[in-house]
Amino acid sequence: MPLEEQNYWLSTTQFPTLVASRPVPELVDVAVIGAGFTGLSAARTLAKRGARVAVLESESIGWGASSRNGGMILSGMKLGVNKLISRYGRERTQRMYAASLAAIDCVEQIVAEESIDCDFVRSGHLEVACKQKHFDDFARQAEVIAREFNHTLRVLQKQELSSEIGSDIYYGGMVDEVSAGSNPARYVAGLSRAVVKAGAEIFEHARVEALERNPRQGELGWKVTTPRGTLWAHEVFVGTSGYTGKATPALQKKLIPIGSFIITTEVLPEPLARELSPRNRMIYDSKNYLYYYRLTPDRRMLFGGRAAFFPETGETVRRSAAILRRGMIDVYPPLSDAKIDYVWGGTLDFAFDIMPHAGQMDGMYYAVGYAGHGVAMATYQGQKIAELMAGDKPENPFVGIPFPGAPLGLYNGKPWFLPFAGAWYKFLDWVS
Ligand SMILES: Cc1cc2nc3c(=O)[nH]c(=O)nc-3n(C[C@H](O)[C@H](O)[C@H](O)COP(=O)(O)OP(=O)(O)OC[C@H]3O[C@@H](n4cnc5c(N)ncnc54)[C@H](O)[C@@H]3O)c2cc1C
Repeated sequence: MPLEEQNYWLSTTQFPTLVASRPVPELVDVAVIGAGFTGLSAARTLAKRGARVAVLESESIGWGASSRNGGMILSGMKLGVNKLISRYGRERTQRMYAASLAAIDCVEQIVAEESIDCDFVRSGHLEVACKQKHFDDFARQAEVIAREFNHTLRVLQKQELSSEIGSDIYYGGMVDEVSAGSNPARYVAGLSRAVVKAGAEIFEHARVEALERNPRQGELGWKVTTPRGTLWAHEVFVGTSGYTGKATPALQKKLIPIGSFIITTEVLPEPLARELSPRNRMIYDSKNYLYYYRLTPDRRMLFGGRAAFFPETGETVRRSAAILRRGMIDVYPPLSDAKIDYVWGGTLDFAFDIMPHAGQMDGMYYAVGYAGHGVAMATYQGQKIAELMAGDKPENPFVGIPFPGAPLGLYNGKPWFLPFAGAWYKFLDWVS
């Protein structure tokens, strides 16, 4: 029987039921677009400050990457620290790295404050080296991170790796104990309950089709058009990540939507699960075209990667299932007979400089560009930008950094270059 596309996390999660027929309000302080981590975190913060908030979601709560990801809550950013220092200088990079750690604390605090049952656990992450030169670079990175950011990563030689992973294909590893794991669908569902508890309203199947800067009773704001009605908002916050579309064309042109895919095995016997991942780490490898994997709380192996570069369709999901299964068996030969129970895909967003970006564009507030490091950072940016909107001056080193568009402006939001980008990354993995 062909494997059906199905997201494992959703099978564990109950989302709140909202009244489908309720019209959108005529007037709000803030219209938040997108009900993922970013939008919901912003809505929670704004509503707690007393703002009247409507969250508008084209599909359903958490429908985007927020319910589909690996649930890895990771320190650092997609780019390495040396690259960050050469681009932004030491002082700003120090603040960025500190923000990446604060972002994990932010998730932990929300989970505790809102009593969200999402298996949040500080199990740490393990990065594994696919080549000797990648491993040599781990030692250099750990040294810079200790010196510049006062944060300790543990570098493990190949012969020490068996305490961390039941695979002998890697050249060594690097552990950060502060990273965490969670069930992302339960987390986003819990966040949506917290938003409603704080007094905001969430509207599903309310795709924002148009945004117009419009005066109302002498005040400038936004006319927001959705299939469930039109509302007027003093401010708009955009948290649409890899699903950013034509309602916000300037932002769409700055983001590349990239597909990422995951398979999940049947429940594994406890001794086998312990052998594969003795410390239950969030694991990813050192390639550009990387694999990431972990055990789920019920002991399945969850194995993901950018198996196809294009966003999820029936076809890319099916192809990815076969590619990921082969990749998983290369890492873990004992899984060659394990049944694959689930496969699914999702879309994440890359900015052209592979950095998170947040602030204001064309009068709208936004936070985007997490490049696969979004569980913690999206939650954090949603909160920080909401604080900014509420009149605070929150520490946020990502606001104000240059936000480049495509080279020579050669991009209209339709990523025609993705097959070339995929081939380029594979080539880089081969030569570097
Ligand atoms: C397969 C996969 C694995 C990943 N693994 C990890 C991981 O392990 N760790 C990690 O840190 N990150 C991971 N990520 C990235 C992480 O999931 C994202 O960065 C994060 O979820 C982004 O949250 P968000 O709220 O900004 O966007 P999303 O959760 O994508 O939400 C955006 C929402 O906006 C809605 N929307 C779009 N346009 C409109 C409109 N016009 N009107 C109304 N609504 C609209 C969409 O329907 C969508 O629900 C992964 C991503 C994927 C796809």
